[in-house]
Amino acid sequence: MSETQDYMVRAIAANQEIRAFAVTSKNLVEEARRAHGTAPVCTAALGRTMSGALMMSGMLKDKDSVLTLQFSGDGPIGGITVTADNNGNVKGFVQNPLVVLPLKEDGHLDVGQAVGKGTLTVIRDMDKDHTYNGQVAIHSGEIADDLTHYFAESEQVPSVVGLGVLVDTDYSVKHAGGFIIQLMPFATEETISRLENNMKDVGYVTEMLDAGFSPEDMLTRVLDGFDVEITQTLPVQFHCNCSRDRVERALKLLGKAELDSIIEEGHETELACHFCGKKYQFSVDEIRGLRAELKNS
Ligand SMILES: [Zn+2]
Repeated sequence: MSETQDYMVRAIAANQEIRAFAVTSKNLVEEARRAHGTAPVCTAALGRTMSGALMMSGMLKDKDSVLTLQFSGDGPIGGITVTADNNGNVKGFVQNPLVVLPLKEDGHLDVGQAVGKGTLTVIRDMDKDHTYNGQVAIHSGEIADDLTHYFAESEQVPSVVGLGVLVDTDYSVKHAGGFIIQLMPFATEETISRLENNMKDVGYVTEMLDAGFSPEDMLTRVLDGFDVEITQTLPVQFHCNCSRDRVERALKLLGKAELDSIIEEGHETELACHFCGKKYQFSVDEIRGLRAELKNS
């Protein structure tokens, strides 16, 4: 992988007692930041969630499965929605992208305060007939911590999640990425205590990324002393699958009365995709055309 391409690795260690994921996501988080014009704390919240969602989508078995993370908290950010598929595509947005909060005492962006208290919902769409939802209370709103609690409470999988986004002085994304380490049910006491020991020295993800660590390097650090085998390397990117056709279908779902009132207003309608900010324009005639496609009832 070239240095500029974001990518994710998947690994096993300790006779498969451990499965692990790590990702670098600087470019895709920067693309999301530009698409939504997010302020630093929102860039961090969205970037951490996107990095986590990508790794969690890597846990899905079926080829076309999609994973969505929804943070609905009472903080000023108003909510975070991120969707990732298991081909390395991710998209997402925050409700209020312009939130500005004082830094925490340790100098970090206060993502927990921005997110607030509420619920984290994990939605896995396996195919069009099978959707699995899991919901837990938001623990701290710091995202990595919340995903750790989700795995423990909802899936009974002991996990270590580290996520980080470093925002530069010009508000662009300097570094982004993270890792997820999971213990399988048959993990030995020796494996567990070595991992616990390792975690004491790991430090922040942003520090590792700032030191030039790749996803493989992060796993080598976190899984120090284990035999780590990388089993998959996957390029990851910001990608939205919205289209004019999908927006037209959404417009039709508004129903006849709503479309009639748009037509009466008599001016062009513009709709923006929540996930990527792409704008779609519809003339009054085009709205009339969509209205005509709806059956009278
Ligand atoms: Zn879009």
